[in-house]
Amino acid sequence: MKPIYFDNNATTPIAPEVLDEMLPYLREFYGNPSSMHTFGGHLHRKIEDARAKVAALINAEPEEIIFTSCGTESDNTAIMSAIESYPQKRHVITTRVEHPAVLNFCKHLARKGYRVTFLPVDKPGRLDMDTFLKAVDDDTAIVSIMYANNETGVIFPVAEIGEILRERKMPFHTDAVQAVGKIPINVKELPVDMLSLSGHKLHAPKGVGALYVRKGTRFYPYIIGGHQERGRRAGTENVASIIGLGKACELAKEHIDKEADYFKRLRDRLEGALLKLCPDVQINGDTENRLPNTTNMSFKYVEGEAILLRLDEYGICASSGSACTSGSLEPSHVLRAMGIPFNAIHGSIRFSLSRYNTEDEVDKVIEIMPLIIKELRTLSPYGKVILSKQSF
Ligand code: PLP
Repeated sequence: MKPIYFDNNATTPIAPEVLDEMLPYLREFYGNPSSMHTFGGHLHRKIEDARAKVAALINAEPEEIIFTSCGTESDNTAIMSAIESYPQKRHVITTRVEHPAVLNFCKHLARKGYRVTFLPVDKPGRLDMDTFLKAVDDDTAIVSIMYANNETGVIFPVAEIGEILRERKMPFHTDAVQAVGKIPINVKELPVDMLSLSGHKLHAPKGVGALYVRKGTRFYPYIIGGHQERGRRAGTENVASIIGLGKACELAKEHIDKEADYFKRLRDRLEGALLKLCPDVQINGDTENRLPNTTNMSFKYVEGEAILLRLDEYGICASSGSACTSGSLEPSHVLRAMGIPFNAIHGSIRFSLSRYNTEDEVDKVIEIMPLIIKELRTLSPYGKVILSKQSF
């Protein structure tokens, strides 16, 4: 059965056009792009084509793009590069709501003796700019703040932060893994020095990513070995996936405005209907400033896992902000940092859409979700109290 897939912030399906472009490079063109012969040299040109397409999506120069193995590697590389480039500086600034790719790397640096500031957010998940301004000091080696949050979709004021840091001549990295391909990004106008993206969030395969490094930014490689990527990232290139990432970026650039409108319309329809049909529901995150494909909703007095399991029986994929289904044993660190009460965190569900979702799929969720919530509340002691006071 084809799933109704509303978990696109976790990963996206590979676009058919992307797969078609990749297959010859998994079958017949298996050469090494570093080889002298034409069979390999041809691949070098294909990699450069892909680099130009990735660059075009964010309006960068091709030589500012370094291919990596994933968003996590791009994030780790950016932070480590600044640490190595400014060895006398011992302070790193990030937020409490970053993806583990940044958060856990910064915790690792803290264990190594670096001073790390984890900036708080307010209830809608927005950065407190005053705390940010107070945190920046001459000892700061790097500021790493995400472009958009993977759980709530909340978009951060990256341009404003970047302006401040540019004046202070401090390196700024943004994890834009969830933003690239969903909303337009133009690095010519955005004061960031480094920006991470990941293939599998925009209909390219897993296992490929890229790091944008602005010309003139001090850079130190994280993976050291051969001369690939002009010595900035060693290791024989993942040729087919890089070609796939190039194609995915080309498609995203071509359709980004239309697609953003499309999944916003579907997301708003889903969200609006569920708010109306299910009592005691709240949206988590700043609804004014969100990715157009994401909604994070708390269905109070029920467990997120229980909702997911019931949805799964209908072939509907989503994810929850609580406990083990999100891959960790802890309730979402993002929702906790936002001060969302535990009873709401435990019932939180993220729906994240893509170009491949349809209105019919949205309507199916609108039909099923209120039934699931009602049924689960009937089973839970808190839910029973609520149901006795309200009717669906
Ligand atoms: N950063 C953010 C905001 C993400 O959402 C993710 C993946 O979910 C990553 C980084 C890590 O990307 P990857 O899975 O390619 O390592």
